[in-house]
Amino acid sequence: MTTIGVVRETAPGERRVALVPEDAGRLRRDGLEVVVECGAGAGAWYADAAYAAAGATVTSRVQVYADSDILLCVTPPDDVDALHTGQTLVGLLAPLRDPVRCRQLAATGVTAVSLDLLPRTLSRAQAMDALTSQANVAGYKAALVAADAYDAYLPMLMTAAGTARPARVLVLGAGVAGLQAIATARRLGAAVTGYDVREAAREDIASTGAAVLTLDVPAATGEGGYARRLSEDESRAQQEALDTAVAGFDIVITTAQVPDGRPPLLVTAAALEALRPGSVVVDAASGPLGGNVAGSEPGRTVVSSRGVTVIGAADLPARVPQAASSAYSRNLCALLAGLIRDGEVAIDPEDEIHAAVVVARDGEVVHPRVRAATSEEVPS
Ligand code: NAD
Repeated sequence: MTTIGVVRETAPGERRVALVPEDAGRLRRDGLEVVVECGAGAGAWYADAAYAAAGATVTSRVQVYADSDILLCVTPPDDVDALHTGQTLVGLLAPLRDPVRCRQLAATGVTAVSLDLLPRTLSRAQAMDALTSQANVAGYKAALVAADAYDAYLPMLMTAAGTARPARVLVLGAGVAGLQAIATARRLGAAVTGYDVREAAREDIASTGAAVLTLDVPAATGEGGYARRLSEDESRAQQEALDTAVAGFDIVITTAQVPDGRPPLLVTAAALEALRPGSVVVDAASGPLGGNVAGSEPGRTVVSSRGVTVIGAADLPARVPQAASSAYSRNLCALLAGLIRDGEVAIDPEDEIHAAVVVARDGEVVHPRVRAATSEEVPS
């Protein structure tokens, strides 16, 4: 019988867990064994006792590694050497961002399955779309982080002591995270404006009831409906137009990404200079490859000499760990339902989803894009 293992996350500050007790119970009812490392869910307030009550075995990390056929994680564990041939590791393995780790994973002989590479527009993949579920959490939390750092009201408030105007919030990048940040800031009563380079995203902004910022920059939709990277000229034109537009806002939340690359710089040092003291900028695209805001650093909050707070908000889903874990766990269960046949892991290279998410197998990196990223030759 297939055994599903869950380990405690090892990345610094990571409080999510890959499987929540409710879904552990669901897998048990489907006839699978579940083994969970002691304390794996503690960061998201899921107690060992809840996993045990759901029918999982709570045990040591060593035992989880020894017993699991499929090991679930959020981000790749630090101790990949503990994995062994025949095991399948499933998580957000970031193989394109971290090809070295991907090679290490392949060397262990495991089958590595990464949800980052799921084909997102395929309707049967939607229940497995962890990038979307986690981006939703990130967008929600970005708005809360901004509201918390902002030393005035978000809604318009009329009191006997006078009327407070609503905060003016600008959200740059209106994909999954940006639209959720827009919706959340609107629920908090702010006057929200959104901006995106994709035409479809501009329509999405308008449909939330937020204002759409229009700049004289051509729409830039690329492969798969994602934004394409702007040319140098387009980028310069966007920067100049944004530098002027940004100054009129109290809060700026940035969520702009391009697939597998460095996030575009949208809020320049000049734009930060033009913001009024007390303004807040949350860079939700901040990460190891950079961010959307000049000088933002992942995990750091910097207050400029002029009193503008810049927050490098790199770890947003991990800061709402219960909701993020619950959604992620459900995504994994949907994926597992298609990976396990007659109680065994059954990878079908002809299946569009399997072909997209399996990055390493039998000691080799097998995914063509990841192979290219690891500078190996793609087999003919
Ligand atoms: P993302 O995280 O890659 O990017 C966030 C947003 O930043 C995008 O809307 C992008 O257009 C925008 N952006 C990029 N460069 C910019 C720039 N220079 N200036 C302003 N904005 C910029 O995107 P995401 O949220 O992961 O997903 C967005 C895309 O994925 C869309 O095409 C969406 O429709 C698609 N998607 C589809 C499904 C589905 O069909 N089920 C699910 C999820 C996402």
